[in-house]
Amino acid sequence: MSVQLLVVVAAVAGLLIGSFLTVVAERVPEGGSVAAPPSRCGSCGLRLGPRDLVPVFSWLVLRGKCRQCKASIGIQPIVLELSTAALFVLFAVEFQDDLVVVIAFCILAATLVVQTWIDLQTQRLPREITYTAMVLGGVALIVAAIVLDEPERIWMAALGAAIALALMAAIYYGSKGGMGFGDVILAPLLGMYLGWLNPGIVAPGLFFGFIAGAVVGVAMMAGKRADRRTAVPFGPFLALGTVAAVFIGQPFVDAVLGR
Ligand SMILES: [Zn+2]
Repeated sequence: MSVQLLVVVAAVAGLLIGSFLTVVAERVPEGGSVAAPPSRCGSCGLRLGPRDLVPVFSWLVLRGKCRQCKASIGIQPIVLELSTAALFVLFAVEFQDDLVVVIAFCILAATLVVQTWIDLQTQRLPREITYTAMVLGGVALIVAAIVLDEPERIWMAALGAAIALALMAAIYYGSKGGMGFGDVILAPLLGMYLGWLNPGIVAPGLFFGFIAGAVVGVAMMAGKRADRRTAVPFGPFLALGTVAAVFIGQPFVDAVLGR
């Protein structure tokens, strides 16, 4: 597949999956099923049909409102659709030589997008989403390692998961409640992916997340939007750090070690 075609396919797949993630973000924190019932307007109960559910396009045509009652449906659909598509395209370009790796990392991308959104809205990282991603992502990474004939990557992924879990568990118990347990559960998923690429970038990935979280936390305190006791959702920063580590983890390690 040419890279141009791959980018188009990744963008369209990202828009469709982002649309599905809207349903996940609305229902999973409340314990609902993502499979049924069909989507309805939260205000008037209008059952949404295909023309209400075309990613981005429907939202723009309806200007973010219900077709029947004109109640606002919020920016959630368009934010999730566009950010999922953007991450899919980034990973598609990065891993363009190996479609199976692109697919594996798109599972990570979808998980990071939906968990980031849910964490920002509810200060929670539903563990059923993290566990589902571990199973789907784990299978995809194993398949990718076998297809590439690099089976050692399976052990690298397991090592990365263990490193991330150990680091986050230590920070969790050291912070005495300053961090949610959902962050600890998310860590091995991130470590599994980074370790599959290179176990040396697992710790830098977490480090990037902490730096980003600290910068935003200090900025919020400086702007008097937070004090030391304000709970800062940490999932978005872990997600950001992980994506950064995929792209600049190794150059960062080389720079630190003076190579
Ligand atoms: Zn309505």
